[in-house]
Amino acid sequence: MGRRQNYGTWIWAGIVITLVIIFCYVAEEIQYSNDYSYVQMRQDLEEGKIVRGEIRQNKEVPTGQVIVWMEDGDQRDMYVSDIAVAEYWLEHYGVFFQLIDVPQDNNLLTVFVPIVTIGLLVFIIMFMIRATAANNNSGGGIKMNTFGKSRAYVYDGDEDKDRIDFDKVAGLKEEKEDLQEIVQFLKDPTKFTKVGARIPKGVLLVGPPGTGKTMMARAVAGEAHVSFLSISGSDFVEMFVGVGASRVRDLFVDAQRRRPCIVFIDEIDAVARRRGSGVGGGHDEREQTLNQLLVEMDGFSANEGIIVMAATNRVDILDPAILRPGRFDRRIMVGAPDVQGREEILRVHSKGKPLAEDVDLKEIAHTTAGFTGADLENLMNEAAILAAKEGRAFILQQDIKSSLIKVEVGAEKRSRIISEEEKRITAYHEAGHAILFHVLEHMEAVYTISVIPTGTGAAGYTMPLPQKDEMFLTRGKMLERIQVCLGGRIAEELILEDVTTGAVQDIKQATQIAKAMVTKYGMSSEMGMISYSDDDEVFIGRDFAQAKGFSEMTAASIDKEIKLIIDDCYQKAKAIILDHMDVLHRCANLLIEKEKIGREEFESLFPKSEDIVTE
Ligand code: ADP
Ligand code: MG
Ligand code: ZN
Repeated sequence: MGRRQNYGTWIWAGIVITLVIIFCYVAEEIQYSNDYSYVQMRQDLEEGKIVRGEIRQNKEVPTGQVIVWMEDGDQRDMYVSDIAVAEYWLEHYGVFFQLIDVPQDNNLLTVFVPIVTIGLLVFIIMFMIRATAANNNSGGGIKMNTFGKSRAYVYDGDEDKDRIDFDKVAGLKEEKEDLQEIVQFLKDPTKFTKVGARIPKGVLLVGPPGTGKTMMARAVAGEAHVSFLSISGSDFVEMFVGVGASRVRDLFVDAQRRRPCIVFIDEIDAVARRRGSGVGGGHDEREQTLNQLLVEMDGFSANEGIIVMAATNRVDILDPAILRPGRFDRRIMVGAPDVQGREEILRVHSKGKPLAEDVDLKEIAHTTAGFTGADLENLMNEAAILAAKEGRAFILQQDIKSSLIKVEVGAEKRSRIISEEEKRITAYHEAGHAILFHVLEHMEAVYTISVIPTGTGAAGYTMPLPQKDEMFLTRGKMLERIQVCLGGRIAEELILEDVTTGAVQDIKQATQIAKAMVTKYGMSSEMGMISYSDDDEVFIGRDFAQAKGFSEMTAASIDKEIKLIIDDCYQKAKAIILDHMDVLHRCANLLIEKEKIGREEFESLFPKSEDIVTE
């Protein structure tokens, strides 16, 4: 049974149970509204305090109300579940009493409870039958698709009550823009096919967990008003070989019937892991499933109105076959939100939660750098729980703040709040890279700079515009590349007392480039134009026999050359940054404030006459 369906049924079951409990409670409340009880009555009877009685009953039910008059004129009454017992005791002590028939509505509650319960049960059963029936024809509501046992959950465009569109997905502005094209295509495929445009078949959403990938895929379907067939990669991987593959086949048969539509494979890494890297069981099964998926994706042509979307946390473990043109050839990175994104997400998730006057979501957004959408949703929920626990009907700023720790602990390493200091260090580090990108002649322009953790270990990134594919790398360009790599650490050195370990990757990359220059490309005069690198089976002439390569002395010379190159680049890069200290500060401050800045914002930090002043 599908997760969605269970969910709905549970809600209904919950509602019924709650109602029944409330009814029983209310009924009981009334039944025992006064303290008078059988025990008390028997005692009073024994002591001769009761002078007269009255039993009000309804013929249909054995329950009723007993009223007794005391010798002092007082009157006591109680509801009893068995009139016969009351009659017995009154008779036993010889007290005069009357049996009075009353119309049913006096006993409304006792009758009402079973009726309501039965009514609700019938309602649930009908609801479930209707939902099941809806699977077989295509009428309204949320449907679990049982067709061909593909196990996909199908949301049917407009009729889906859970339909979400781009408005519900906060932040992620650029990602939404990237997906607009897909939406337009699904809305009106002929518009594209008429002019011969080829639309990507597969879109891969890549990003850390909880950043809204699943949500985004659903929103594309909602936005385009098309069906959404969703299945999780882990659903494919079963114990029995062949089941996964047949599910894939069924999924695409279903998709063909529902065109235009989106087929969404969540957590695709479960099936599309690099082949041959599996450990133990389920390995063959996964390969078969993946092969079937590739066959299906190749099987329909690009403009048929089926778009396959998939989500993954890690693109590096995916089988390269899946990323080839004609398969998932469009990749969209869905990152953790920046300050503004976080504020918008907080706003979305505080809908329906009354906030006190003092709540400042902007401030919360500022203190939650590193949180994903899912963490922020969780945060607002915890705050609401906290408010409810204290019996308040609204959330205070303090509730949100107190929940931060709890959510952060729950989020563990996945998404950790970055401290102000960490953010400052990263900001200077990235600003250092960015300045060198900008100033150095052969480096690409900066496209984005971010100090939001990527979820793959980096604290931030500086992304250049995509480079043109050039046939040759020149020596000059390689040296500039090394300088860019070193820029992060240099900025740290200049601003902070100490340096951090944050530059490991940079240093590694710089070393690799320098090493390649010396050992592969013959770019150092000292070592000459000789290939010392054996990684592509190139050996030095004299040493054919010794596949290993070169002597200790040669190795030492290579290391010396590499160090010379790095040292030289270091000096040059440092000089450039020292020349642009004001830009460095301004850039870092802007990054601390906004967390992510684009090309124009970055370039406007440089003085206009810049190019004339330096050099
Ligand atoms: P992913 O698939 O990337 O792991 P999900 O799409 O499942 O993340 O998101 C989990 C939850 O986090 C969503 O149900 C939603 O409530 C919340 N969320 C994540 N990103 C956003 C966002 N950009 N806007 C609003 N809510 C979000
Ligand atoms: Mg998901
Ligand atoms: Zn760096």
